[in-house]
Amino acid sequence: MKTRTIPADRLRRIVAEITEEMAAETERGAVADYIPQLAKVDPNQFALVLVTGDGEVIEGGDAATRFSIQSVSKVFALALALGKIGAQLWRRVGREPSGDPFNSIVQLEYEKGIPRNPFINAGAIVVTDAILAKSKPKEALGQILTFMRFLTGDNDIAIDPAVAKSETETGFRNFALANFMRDFGTVTNAPELALGVYFHQCAIAMTARQLAMAGRFLAFGGRLGPDGPRAISERKARQINALMLTCGHYDGSGEFAYRVGLPGKSGVGGGILSVVPGQVSIGCWSPGLNPVGNSQLASRALELLAQRTGWSVFAHR
Ligand code: GLN
Repeated sequence: MKTRTIPADRLRRIVAEITEEMAAETERGAVADYIPQLAKVDPNQFALVLVTGDGEVIEGGDAATRFSIQSVSKVFALALALGKIGAQLWRRVGREPSGDPFNSIVQLEYEKGIPRNPFINAGAIVVTDAILAKSKPKEALGQILTFMRFLTGDNDIAIDPAVAKSETETGFRNFALANFMRDFGTVTNAPELALGVYFHQCAIAMTARQLAMAGRFLAFGGRLGPDGPRAISERKARQINALMLTCGHYDGSGEFAYRVGLPGKSGVGGGILSVVPGQVSIGCWSPGLNPVGNSQLASRALELLAQRTGWSVFAHR
């Protein structure tokens, strides 16, 4: 891969143009309603933020509005779990795209309770269970939040308790997944404890600006900038990027790789974290989702960004 460094003023223009075009879009998708609290979010919002290697922040739209990061949290949980227990994690979760929806249960029985990858719900519940290990849910959540604050360099990151409660009351399918995996032994804690941590981790609220900051470690080889402090090893950062490219958008992962060509992770709150290795970390958000549960406008905006910058992990110059 060889990606071009683009002057900041050109990037500013591109971000402003895309933000303007997205504001005019009428096809905005539908907000997630299976978590009642998320159904209340105004779909007419959009944000696009880039953080460059120089630490410059280039932003458009509602960059300072908090949203529920939901499944984008799975990337940070994976980095934390790999840092804690390393490759042992891969005994309990795979690294293949599933080709099924994010909350699917079908493969789990055939594959003996081992989820396909850490980004579908079943896999993410296993990752969270590994972080929880034998500690208390409060401690595990504390570790996740501390890690997020370190990655963003911002202590103002918290869990939205109304979203966590809303999902705890309605997350029957996730309860089914966790119980099923507890029987196979891939979930080791009591399912309600692992899910308690998982629902709260998904309910972390962040702005697109904070999300872009939090993704720097994936854009810069495990560091918070080209010469910044280290969050994880370079090798692990590459591995997580590979999983984001192949599995980060569930059964829409192939389409995202085809259209955008960058590692990315989506969440049903409408957020997408994407990175251009060596160049920028990107936080993008718009609450309306496409039929596979990825943000309609954030996916489109990232496609336009990739087209206009020439950025792609498959670029030859
Ligand atoms: N908390 C959500 C769930 O488990 C996360 C799903 C998502 O963002 N795709 O259903």
